[in-house]
Formats: sequence, C-alpha cells, structure tokens
Amino acid sequence: MINDSIKGDFTVLGIFGDPVEHSFSPTIHNTVAKMLGKNFVYVPFHVKKEGLGAAADGAFNMSVAGLNITVPHKIEIMKFLCGIDKQAEAIGAVNTLKLTENGYVGYNTDVTGVGRALEKRGFSFEGKTALLLGAGGAANACGVCAASRGAKRLVIANRTVEKAEALSERIAKYYPETKTEAINLEAVADMGRADIILNATTIGFGEKEGLSPIDENTAAKLEAEIIFDAIYVPQKTRLLEIGEKLGAKIVNGFDMLVFQALAAEEIWFDMKFSPEEEKEISSCLEKYFTENRK
Ligand code: NAP
Repeated sequence: MINDSIKGDFTVLGIFGDPVEHSFSPTIHNTVAKMLGKNFVYVPFHVKKEGLGAAADGAFNMSVAGLNITVPHKIEIMKFLCGIDKQAEAIGAVNTLKLTENGYVGYNTDVTGVGRALEKRGFSFEGKTALLLGAGGAANACGVCAASRGAKRLVIANRTVEKAEALSERIAKYYPETKTEAINLEAVADMGRADIILNATTIGFGEKEGLSPIDENTAAKLEAEIIFDAIYVPQKTRLLEIGEKLGAKIVNGFDMLVFQALAAEEIWFDMKFSPEEEKEISSCLEKYFTENRK
C-alpha cells in the first residue's frame, strides 16, 4: 500500500527531550498539520545531556526548521544558540528554537501558553495581585507571564525559599514595575488577598495526586477570582476542587500546553492562528486527550 503522507519537500520539526516518549507535542503538532493541510512532520528525538550540542549541530545541518526543547534541556540548550529572545532570557530557559542562517534562535512560548489560557477565561493580570506557588521551570514562565502582563504585585511561594528569592530577583530585574516578594508556602495564609493563584509546583500530580499546595482555609483567605494549575493530569487537581468549592474560576494546564505549541508554530512559520482555528484545534485535542489519557 502506498503511504504518501510524508513527501520529500516536507518541513521537519521536532522535540529534544530525555525522556521524550511521554511528550504530547508530536500529537499536537501532527494534528495541526493534518487539520490545516500543512506540509510538515514533527518527530520526537531522544537526546541525552552529553549529546545535546552535537544534536543541535546535527539538526542545524539537516535544516530542521524548528524544535521544541523539553526536560532536562531547557537551560543547557541556551549555550548552543546564536540568539535568545528577551522574554526567554528573563525566564532563563527556552522551549522553542527557530532555524536561521547562523544557527538557532531560542524562545520560550510557555509564557504565551499561560497567558492565552487565562485570557480565554477573560482574566487580565493588569494591576492585579498574583500568588505563584513554585519556583521551578513552569513557575518561571508563570511569573514572567504575570509581570510582563502588568501584575502589580507578585508573591512567589516555594518550599525552598531561596529558589523563590532567586526567581523574584530575576523577574524584578526585567519587570521592575511589578512588586515581587518571595515567601515560603506556610506564609501564604498571611499574605492578604490575591486576585489569582497559579500552581506551578508538582503537588497534585503523579504520586502527589489528591494533595494541594495550600489548604482550603488558606485558599479561602485569598479570595481569588481565578485559580490556575499547570497540571493537566488529573484534569481537576485537589487545588482546583478547592477553588471550585470556593466559587473561583478554575483552569487546568491543558490550554497552556496547547497554546504554547501553537505559539511555537507561529514563530516557526511567521503566522498567526485565527481564533476559530485555535478553538477548533484546542477542542479536537481536548477530546482526544480526554478519551486517550491513561
Ligand atoms: P520543577 O522545575 O521540577 O519544579 C517543581 C516545583 O514543585 C518546585 O517549585 C518544587 O519546590 C515544588 N515541589 C515539588 N515537590 C514538592 C513538595 N513535596 N512540596 C512542596 N513543593 C514541592 O517542575 P516544572 O517543570 O516546573 O513542573 C511543575 C508542574 O508544572 C508539573 O506538575 C508539570 O507537569 C507542570 N507543567 C505543565 C506545563 C503545561 O504546559 N501545562 C508545562 C510545564 C510544566 P522546590 O523548589 O522546593 O523543590
């Protein structure tokens, strides 16, 4: 049987990760290609730390037009790039590479991912107080998203307070108009009101499913209008259950995942998806994900 689904003139895109087999990105991008009739193919590359530079060099020489970078390479890859976008520099990590004549330029589309997921629910950071739980990779993107979109106050709470301090200092350097503070998780109860809570810890995921980074009494004191959890498995974490009970809008990490992928395609192909295309792609992927997730 003839299989002509990939032809010689197709653009090649992919993702570097270790491990990479869990990644939902190939499904997202190849679905977009099929839905919109685009001539590209997106493949997973299992790249180990010691081979990262050689892999980037090889991809450049093979004209791989765009790459996503996932755990654990988001920081290390920065050494092998010919340029880094300002927002990615503020985050201190890249998740998207675009091929240029001189090498790859690095971007971080996680900020756009969180931003668009919240905009879709009618939320704007402008003049607001945000509580960010966590100080790892996803928290960096959530924090930069809040500050770059005009949050007045950003409180970063993390188990290891030194990491929250480092993140707070970096964000303050790039976005001085946002007042940033670093506290430990226990101090959240005394921080006053927060318009939004963003969970970027792993509490609620995997073996920590059913747990929440803050308890119901603390969440009630914050009176947040919206609660975002970067986790998308389970679809409703314990924190989101608490938020729902308290009458807040709740948003899981699925839209962040989809929107960061669409933002990467916009960079690779220098285009913009229409709101109708975004809606169609996102509902198709959500249906697939709900039906197929383990
Ligand atoms: P990471 O860099 O490893 O950061 C993990 C964070 O969780 C750190 O702040 C860590 O605190 C905290 N943490 C872990 N165990 C804890 C515990 N027992 N008690 C208190 N705090 C704890 O991970 P990441 O890449 O940022 O991912 C964080 C979450 O976001 C994951 O659940 C991931 O699935 C999700 N995520 C979603 C998307 C999306 O597109 N929706 C994208 C990326 C990540 P310490 O600093 O004290 O260790």
